[in-house]
Amino acid sequence: MSGVICTMAALGETIVRLKRGGERGEERVVLWLARSVARDPATVIEVYEPDQICAVNYYKLPAESMRLLMEHLRAKRRKVVAQIHIHPGEAFHSEADAEWAIVRHVGALSLVLPHFAEHTTPSRFLDEVKTYEYTLERQWLLRPNRGDAARVTVTP
Ligand SMILES: [Zn+2]
Repeated sequence: MSGVICTMAALGETIVRLKRGGERGEERVVLWLARSVARDPATVIEVYEPDQICAVNYYKLPAESMRLLMEHLRAKRRKVVAQIHIHPGEAFHSEADAEWAIVRHVGALSLVLPHFAEHTTPSRFLDEVKTYEYTLERQWLLRPNRGDAARVTVTP
């Protein structure tokens, strides 16, 4: 099991950045970074917004954007622990999401917010987000946001 700890401030920044895409009627993705040596659960220390090509139903990271991300991770000694993106409608993990997943190590988390995060707030985040974890069987499995099996913990 892998988990992340996210502060209300980091959640707020995540939502603001995603909503900017939503207001243009586009999907958008941000990444949660932790120290590369962070143990499980890892604390999110940076909300990283990569350069991306977005449309109403997808986002893509050009090769140059991936290169900049890897360079950033190396220079700052950080790792990606989760990716979070918005959907125009329901939140689910699509085939395109699986194909374009930026993280796909076992235990990686992919979070999806519905309705372009239009009504999402930090305090409502866990009620709205769908959390998927990449498993040994190479599948993205839906995880609960409450209880012992929850992957995301929000702190003040
Ligand atoms: Zn998606």
